[in-house]
Amino acid sequence: MERTLVIIKPCALQRGLAGEVISRFEKKGLKLVALKMYRFTKEKCAEHYSHLTGKPFYPIIEKSMMAAPVILCCLEGIDAVEVVREMTGATNGRKALPGTVRGDLCMSHQENIIHASDSMESAIVELDRFFTKDDYFDYDSPLFDYLYASDELK
Ligand code: ADP
Repeated sequence: MERTLVIIKPCALQRGLAGEVISRFEKKGLKLVALKMYRFTKEKCAEHYSHLTGKPFYPIIEKSMMAAPVILCCLEGIDAVEVVREMTGATNGRKALPGTVRGDLCMSHQENIIHASDSMESAIVELDRFFTKDDYFDYDSPLFDYLYASDELK
């Protein structure tokens, strides 16, 4: 099964929305297999957002991501990367569609509630950036038999 990284950003913790965000993914049927609180350093922020360090708004990203702790989540499911990205919505919360996390919960381009891996390749790199083998938990999810058809679980 596919795994993806969600980072619940400082703005969501500060607004008391962490439970709401996790709940949305749980209700969808994604399985939480790793979860931890974490505080970004300048170095880790630059590594994670290396594609944006040259942008004029990068100092805002850094300040925002270091303003409070984040919650790191690894979610598992069939096509988890794409499903979570669709649920996340457009980067700018004002343009994100209603029904998405960003569309429903924020009004900002920067303070946009969560980060979600944008491809399977990035998910692998990003999960390795924040989690070690011991952070993952394997457990039975009896609901899987109801969430998926038998041929999807092969
Ligand atoms: P996404 O988070 O949707 O994958 P990007 O990887 O392009 O989007 O950007 C990473 C993060 O940087 C965004 O989630 C947002 O917090 C911030 N960001 C991106 N573009 C801007 C911008 N033009 N102004 C302010 N913040 C931005």
